[in-house]
Amino acid sequence: MRRNRRAKIVATVGPASSSPEMLKALHFAGVDTFRLNFSHGTHEDHAKVFAALRALEREIGSPIGILQDLQGPKIRVGTIRDGKITVTAGERIRFVPEGTDGEAMSIPLAHPEIFAAVSPGHDLLIDDGRVRVRVTGVSDKAIDAQVINGGVISNRKGVNLPGTVLDVSPLTAKDRKDLAFGLELGVDWVALSFVQKPSDVIEARSLIGDRAGLVSKIEKPSALESIDEIIALSDAIMVARGDLGVEIPHEDVPGRQKELVRACRHAVKPVIVATQMLDSMVAAPTPTRAEASDVATAIYDGADAVMLSAESATGLYPIETVEMMDRIIKSTESHKLYRSIVKASEPDVEHTPAHAIAAASADLAEAIGAPVIVTYTSSGATAARIARKRPPLPILALTPDERIARRMRLLWGVHSLRSEVADTYDAMVRRAAGSALAEGLAEPSQYIVVCSGIPFGQAGTTNNLRVVQAGNP
Ligand code: PGA
Ligand code: MN
Repeated sequence: MRRNRRAKIVATVGPASSSPEMLKALHFAGVDTFRLNFSHGTHEDHAKVFAALRALEREIGSPIGILQDLQGPKIRVGTIRDGKITVTAGERIRFVPEGTDGEAMSIPLAHPEIFAAVSPGHDLLIDDGRVRVRVTGVSDKAIDAQVINGGVISNRKGVNLPGTVLDVSPLTAKDRKDLAFGLELGVDWVALSFVQKPSDVIEARSLIGDRAGLVSKIEKPSALESIDEIIALSDAIMVARGDLGVEIPHEDVPGRQKELVRACRHAVKPVIVATQMLDSMVAAPTPTRAEASDVATAIYDGADAVMLSAESATGLYPIETVEMMDRIIKSTESHKLYRSIVKASEPDVEHTPAHAIAAASADLAEAIGAPVIVTYTSSGATAARIARKRPPLPILALTPDERIARRMRLLWGVHSLRSEVADTYDAMVRRAAGSALAEGLAEPSQYIVVCSGIPFGQAGTTNNLRVVQAGNP
């Protein structure tokens, strides 16, 4: 499926979108990578969606990305004696470990680690930050706190602890089961929730290996403190603004988004901007002006992908939302100010042959007015390095590995395809020129740029640049 835009769309699958017909319609409307949210649904539900997407992929003959999002150590309120408690500012409340017989005003927490990690002065935020309480005293049996912002605390509501680094594994027992299941299915990406520190990524990597790309979701302030290391250890990053916006002040989220997008572009790692992008389209056929502007901002920031959550999972207008996102991206990318804005955040060329060749291929293609850059890539790294330059023309990435072809569906500007490796360099160039033509990315005898590494298949060997005529090298 060829797109007439550079940035990609990730959409979450849920009850509103899980039928094979809807998945197909959503892909045609613009979804490049589908997100299976393991905070909801059964393994059976996810397996059905997975099978439908792979069947669709076979039907259309081009790769589709599938991302498994693990729930992570999301902390929740346990079962309150009366189901809910209404608290008001100034009031004192007590949290107790789940299972201890609390008084009417005490709130159970299922996670004993919290009692060891919080200190007086730390804040607990409940129900997406609606209720805020400040810790005044801690023991291993109770946390005493004073209510700062009142509201209703009810069973199973989420709890965020922005100031606290919890000594919990990034993978709960449920995550480990879900991960094993996802890897068995063959998901292309695994997203880790609530990453706090580099060792969280290392721990997950030891389980995932290279079977899937690893996406670190940035939604904790502690992750921001060692962000460069976390980016370096990950294959991609998600700016998870839902929880991030609870854990840090609202007004700091836009700046953090810009920082994260730029840092990922520098590090040649794809970055997804997520959550509440077109949230009012959960219930309405059109977005607010502010939401349209939010999607455009992520595109101007240079994000590889933008993501839909409830809009496509449970909303009333999944297809309309994807179409709207597609239109906003296209309109933004064709605006006269777009190129100068994206160019302004361009990283310096790194002084390695692989980087310099990739950058040169983008410059060369632009200089000769080539309609496409074709690259052979075994790990996707060459395509990512070219994409880092954000060239104003498509990048056709050919790889013999179908898993890499699927993963590259997340990369800015990259149209990926599986293609066998040719025996000789000349045959490879011929195949590149033929593919550009066959994919409708070049007209016969137009000059195109082919960027590759010789010998093929050795990481970091991108060393070759050639100008050939499409279909006729
Ligand atoms: P979630 O992650 O939807 O799994 O919470 C995204 C976010 O927090 O923004
Ligand atoms: Mn989250």
